[in-house]
Amino acid sequence: MSLKVVKFGGSSLASADQFRKVASIIKADKNRRYAVASAPGKRFTGDFKVTDMFYLLYDKASSGESIEELFGEISYRYTDIANDLGVDLPLDKELSKIKAALYGMAGRDYAASRGEYLNSMILAKHMGYDFIDAAEVIFFKTDGTFDAERTNAVLSERLKKHEYAVVPGFYGSMPNGTIKTFSRGGSDITGSILARAANATLYENWTDVSGFLMTDPRIVENPKVIETITYRELRELSYMGATVLHEDAIFPVQIAGIPINIKNTNAPDDPGTMIVASSDKYDTKNIITGIAGKKGFSSIHIEKDMMNGEVGFTRKILSVFEEMNISFEHLPSGIDTMTIMLKTADIDAIREQLIASIKKAVKPDSIYIQDGIALVAVVGRAMVKAKGTAAKVFKAIASADVNIKMIDQGSDEMNIIIGIEEGDFEKAVNAIYKEFIA
Ligand code: ASP
Repeated sequence: MSLKVVKFGGSSLASADQFRKVASIIKADKNRRYAVASAPGKRFTGDFKVTDMFYLLYDKASSGESIEELFGEISYRYTDIANDLGVDLPLDKELSKIKAALYGMAGRDYAASRGEYLNSMILAKHMGYDFIDAAEVIFFKTDGTFDAERTNAVLSERLKKHEYAVVPGFYGSMPNGTIKTFSRGGSDITGSILARAANATLYENWTDVSGFLMTDPRIVENPKVIETITYRELRELSYMGATVLHEDAIFPVQIAGIPINIKNTNAPDDPGTMIVASSDKYDTKNIITGIAGKKGFSSIHIEKDMMNGEVGFTRKILSVFEEMNISFEHLPSGIDTMTIMLKTADIDAIREQLIASIKKAVKPDSIYIQDGIALVAVVGRAMVKAKGTAAKVFKAIASADVNIKMIDQGSDEMNIIIGIEEGDFEKAVNAIYKEFIA
């Protein structure tokens, strides 16, 4: 039996008209049984996301400023939608409860969470679905991390009692009952958690784009949409800067092997992107699935004669990083050289101390840091079988007159990462895209 969990992002639920589109999408398929809603997003360029307004509201309340005007604006966002849709809800009562809690110094996360709470109530009423408060079914541990197992146990039992329901995204509760949110964009995670608990056949994530693009449209003009991508590929691409879905949203569905379909609320017939567990059933025409990248990296170059023969050399270096609580990105090495790639922001304040500690640990012949590096990841499950992919990447980069500073290929042969100067970043991404995608 087919069961779908659907999540709608903020732009899909920013106005009454958007709500109507969402309702007709949900109604079009009776298997769309559980819906997760975000807070209202921007209605037009320059508009505010309600979540941002709630954060501001909290800041004002906690610094003793009056919140009346801003609270009025937020209230209007909801009453406007509810009145236009003609839903009958005691919104005034809910809003005054929230206002009182804010004056009573309810937490920052509580404030932010009300965005999805109210929007989900409206959606549930409009659809005739049950409303399940996420605080009752999504749990965090005392240390603030998500409690996957308790949540799954409680939520799956709870869902059995509701044939059709709406659950607010983004938040859950702490063991003491206070509200806690995921990081920004966290409604994607809620959808994934729900899909796992409901044992869904599909998790549809509805947004305002028709799927993942192969690369950043701010760099490459009109990149193609990715038809299918595996969880692993997606993780590589999101880690390297591609956004659309929250990075952590993959884990719950991955455990259960549930595919995610990224869909466009404003173009519901577009197939969007399928995110799948394994590529077996979903072959790809392209050797590469996507290209992503980020600026803001530094490399530490270490040279020492006979490094290769010195047992424990790498361990000594890595223990310096461990002691200073810094994680590194890549660690390519030669016979007498080693390069450690890190985020510049992670070492900026402690670079002298870091160099001194490495010198003390391994007594290198030379050591220096180079800043201003960008990393580009070329990701594709089909690369494993295809010969000559690396050659094509390097040919593209060379013909764009870009110098490569570092090369790293993951052991699963699913990605090639290259380090280049930040100034060459856009040029390199364009060149690689054009080389692979006609
Ligand atoms: N409303 C929250 C945010 O703006 C969560 C979400 O939309 O996923 O980050």
